[in-house]
Amino acid sequence: MTEKLYYKDPYIKTFEAAVVQRGEETDGRPYVVLDRTAFYPTGGGQPGDTGEIDDISVTGTETVAGEIRHYLERPLPEGRDRVTGRIDWERRFDHMQQHAGQHILSAAFADELGMKTVAFHLGHDDVTIDLATDALTEEDVRRAEAIANRIVYQNLPIQTKWVDGDEWTKYPLRKPPRVKENIRLVIIENYDYNACGGTHPRATAEVGPIHVLSWEKNQDGFRVHFICGIRAVRAFADKHRVIRALNRKLSSQENELPEKLDQLLERYHQLEKQCEEANDRLLSYEAKELLAQADDRGSVRLVARSFIDREVADCQKLVRLLVDADESVIVLFAIKQRGRLHVIGARGRGVDWDMRDLVRDGLALINGRGGGKPDRAQGGAETDLTAEGMLTHLKRLFEARWKETATSAR
Ligand SMILES: [Zn+2]
Repeated sequence: MTEKLYYKDPYIKTFEAAVVQRGEETDGRPYVVLDRTAFYPTGGGQPGDTGEIDDISVTGTETVAGEIRHYLERPLPEGRDRVTGRIDWERRFDHMQQHAGQHILSAAFADELGMKTVAFHLGHDDVTIDLATDALTEEDVRRAEAIANRIVYQNLPIQTKWVDGDEWTKYPLRKPPRVKENIRLVIIENYDYNACGGTHPRATAEVGPIHVLSWEKNQDGFRVHFICGIRAVRAFADKHRVIRALNRKLSSQENELPEKLDQLLERYHQLEKQCEEANDRLLSYEAKELLAQADDRGSVRLVARSFIDREVADCQKLVRLLVDADESVIVLFAIKQRGRLHVIGARGRGVDWDMRDLVRDGLALINGRGGGKPDRAQGGAETDLTAEGMLTHLKRLFEARWKETATSAR
């Protein structure tokens, strides 16, 4: 049985120990069991500690088959029977802050609002508790948060006590303990009594600020995300940096930010609309000009053009304008944009060509895929071929088709 130094004193960072056992998990991870340890093993929602044993990294600590196994980056050399353990204190103290913060916040939700905590998770980025409740308002959250922070400022001692049998019934525990012997109670006098196996700081002030980030409904109630201590201080600094940058950019004061942003977005949408209208007007002029320069074959007028770095959506609009304006038009567009070649083939109502044939034959040159309807088809592919090269090919296909039509008409 390993002596649990983290219970004797959760502030022990370095310790000497004897190696009791070396082993390897089925997945190949080497581990050691020591006669005493300050490494807390995963349990009660708190992740296991990491750190070093001698010069070897400890990647995690778990309780397996009643043993506390320290997982090592590489096996401990044979013959080394006395070792020095060093836990990653920054990480562990963070866990102590989050864990004790959870006790304090859960107690505030339970006592002030009658909302019991049914689950707890201490994650890498945030901490969550699941509350059994049908409703949770912003006001509820801020009330519980304020009470929790008051408990922090009062700097109340966080005590631990070991009890056996039904001795625990002398304390107002939030729920009965899961074990019968060696029950560990964590007590904040007159505020919170819990059976808990985690590590906690010696007084509530060490938890630092407690801040609820967000909350959402889940299957059993509400999940509350929060952070404590150094995490809360860092988050404040990060957010403040972002807000200051925004204030500088928008030349605003902090409390004017939402209003400034609304004004900016409104202006943006106005401009976007104006821009679109102006663009549509330009496109209709362009359509007129293209029709005026069309290759007039009598029954058919061909508009064939290549474009570089032009939005395909813009070209599609142009195609619509052309076929709406002239029933006898055939439009062939080749557009090159960011390495991709796009082909559009369309015709007016007065032409009975199936444009899918022409577009398919055009795309065959670049192994492209496409589709559409008889009066308008399109497709494309990544290719080195230029828009001009594709247009030449499309024109050749048009001429062949045109010849066929002329022959069959005769
Ligand atoms: Zn605890």
